[in-house]
Amino acid sequence: MQFKRIEMQGFKSFADPVCIELNDGITCIVGPNGSGKSNISDALRWVLGEQSPKQLRGNKMDEVIFAGTTSRKPKGMAEVSLVVDNSSGMLPVDYNEVAVTRRMYRSGESEYLINGNNCRLKDVRELFMDTGIGVDGYSIIGQGKIQEIVSTKPENRREIFEEAAGIVSYKTRKQDAERK
Ligand code: ATP
Ligand code: MG
Repeated sequence: MQFKRIEMQGFKSFADPVCIELNDGITCIVGPNGSGKSNISDALRWVLGEQSPKQLRGNKMDEVIFAGTTSRKPKGMAEVSLVVDNSSGMLPVDYNEVAVTRRMYRSGESEYLINGNNCRLKDVRELFMDTGIGVDGYSIIGQGKIQEIVSTKPENRREIFEEAAGIVSYKTRKQDAERK
């Protein structure tokens, strides 16, 4: 499964709509300090359902909305879409291309969409579960993460292997069933 593109508008420093194409092979993002490189990985985390502003290098979630500059007004909404190629069928949906979208308004209201249809955060989580891609997956290795893996408790380290082995969705469903 491959990421095809990231589209965003009103997200952090990306006030205007941008589309970042991710072609075959490795994509490197280069640019001067403060030009928005890390904001792109924040966008990726955010669209996958990140709930912690700290993980997005902020204090409050609405800080992801473009805050304006001396010459530009702030935006009222942030939107990020991640488009993935699902021709391998790794994601459990009948589409060759899957677009996951998250929107957030200044009112605090949030929306998630899969291929343009409104859905819950839970649906986005479940879509990527056991693919290694979700927020709790191992596909986004932030600063300090390797150190954390090495020094964490064995139980926590085990969770990383469980995600890689693809059994997290079964564990989650078992826990849900036991709670009912
Ligand atoms: P470095 O090379 O130092 O790591 P970088 O390219 O990763 O830099 P980022 O951290 O992605 O840079 O971008 C920081 C910039 O994004 C800052 O100029 C900051 O003002 C801007 N920024 C962050 N949040 C917002 C927001 N909500 N509205 C407008 N600009 C924002
Ligand atoms: Mg950076």
